[in-house]
Parts: sequence; structure tokens; C-alpha cells
Amino acid sequence: MTNKMLRLDRAITVHLTRSWLKRRGLPVLMYHSISEITDGLRHPYYELRTPANIFEEHMQWLAQNDYRSLPVSGLQGAVLDGQDGKHVAITFDDGFRDFYTTAFPILQKYGLTATVFLPTAYISHNRQQFLGLDCMTWSEVEELHGAGIEFGSHTVSHARLYGLSQDALEMEISESKNAIEEKLGVPVRTFAHPYAFPSDSTYSDRLRDLLAKHGYRAGVCTALGLENASGDPYFRRRLPMNGFDDADFFQAKLEGAYDWLGTVQTVRKRIMQRVKHG
Ligand SMILES: [Zn+2]
Repeated sequence: MTNKMLRLDRAITVHLTRSWLKRRGLPVLMYHSISEITDGLRHPYYELRTPANIFEEHMQWLAQNDYRSLPVSGLQGAVLDGQDGKHVAITFDDGFRDFYTTAFPILQKYGLTATVFLPTAYISHNRQQFLGLDCMTWSEVEELHGAGIEFGSHTVSHARLYGLSQDALEMEISESKNAIEEKLGVPVRTFAHPYAFPSDSTYSDRLRDLLAKHGYRAGVCTALGLENASGDPYFRRRLPMNGFDDADFFQAKLEGAYDWLGTVQTVRKRIMQRVKHG
């Protein structure tokens, strides 16, 4: 099933980019862990791991094709100036330790930067784990910050925010920001929404107000697609990346051919919500 789905995703995407669906926009790449895929049981869309050699192929491709990387805090300026052609933002969710040991040296090798989103309850002076994987410690975060990596909030507890009370939502947003600011001594401006992003404008309006109130200026979510001036600065769409992205698939996603899946995702969410709400 998984393999069939992968072949279908890949075939449609690679075919579309070579035909009529090519669209321009700024790609925001979403990575999680840079490590070997040990089970391979998930649908490729949900796989969180990218092996180091594949991650390096992606970064090498960007460097060879003259892409320049931006931190998420710099996206707004770039898309408004119409500089979406050869810019990319590279993001990592969940604060896994392999960013420090494996991803960062590869980024450095190709002169690329990234934004890393931390669920702060899992970042400590002692090593913690999230989803069975080691997370970074504060001293590793401080070292990377010194080397130019941007850090943003991924909430405190990696909570499912949709449905939380206003107080609980505000706590997740403010305390994670405070924790990072206290350690790094710089303002934290960026936020990554954990889990699927609900297609519910009441919720996104409420969340955007809270983010603005606490001094956030930019953010990303899991909605699929390329970014441009019409996107929401707090909930930028991203392209999920993992070990299933060979060079053709990677290039096709960057060139907008994966946006078809974003449309499928939105339609599916609307249908599911309609079903749920009767
Ligand atoms: Zn996450």
C-alpha cells in the first residue's frame, strides 16, 4: 500500500512539473529528523526521517542550482519583494539532536541556513527524547544559535492546539517563547504549528491574534504548497521532505508540482469537517 501510494505521489508530481502545472513561489522545506528510516511502514507523506545521504543530495541540489536560504523571519520581505524565484527556507521541527550532529554540518558545507522549531518541554540541560528520538540540549541550541541558526517556538509540549482553552493556548505560545529567549538572549519571532493545520478561520484568527500579541512576526504550518505574497505570514505553507524524496521528486516539489496535493488536502479537510459537523 505504502509503496503504491509513493509511486502514485511521485508519478503525478514528477509528471506535472514537466508538463503544465509548473508554478512559481518560494519553497519552505519541512524536515524533522535526519536519520535512517528503520521501519518504512508509514505513508511517505507522514515519514519524519530523512537519511543523511538524501538530505545531503537535497542541499547539494539547492547549492548547485544557486538557491539562497533564508530564515523564516526573513520570508515576508522576500515574498513581498517578489524574490521567490531562487530563495528557499529550510525548517526543522521538533528539536531533534540529529540536527546538531548531522544536518548542521551538511548545511554549513553548502553555505545554507535553517530555522529550527523547538517544543521547549523536550529541550533541557539533560538529554530528553521526543517520539523515541534524542532532542538537543540547551547548550547545543546555544552553540547553533551562535553559528547563525534561527530558533523558533514549536509550543511547550507539542500539544494539539485545536480545541485547547484560550489560557492553555496562550501558555503554549508564550512560555515556549520565553524559555528560548531566556536561553539565547534574543527575541523569538517565529512559530511552527504542530500537527495538521485545521482549515477553520475562527481558529486561525484567534491563534494569529495571540501570536501577534506575544511578539511573533512569522510562522509556518503543515499546509502544503509554495509561498508568495498572498500567503498568511503566520501560517506559511511548507513542502514536507523525507527519505522518499529522490532528486526528481525533490526538484518537482520545489517547482510547485506538489501543490496539487495541497489542493487535495484542503478539499479533504473541508469534506471531513462537513461530515463531522453534520
Ligand atoms: Zn512537530
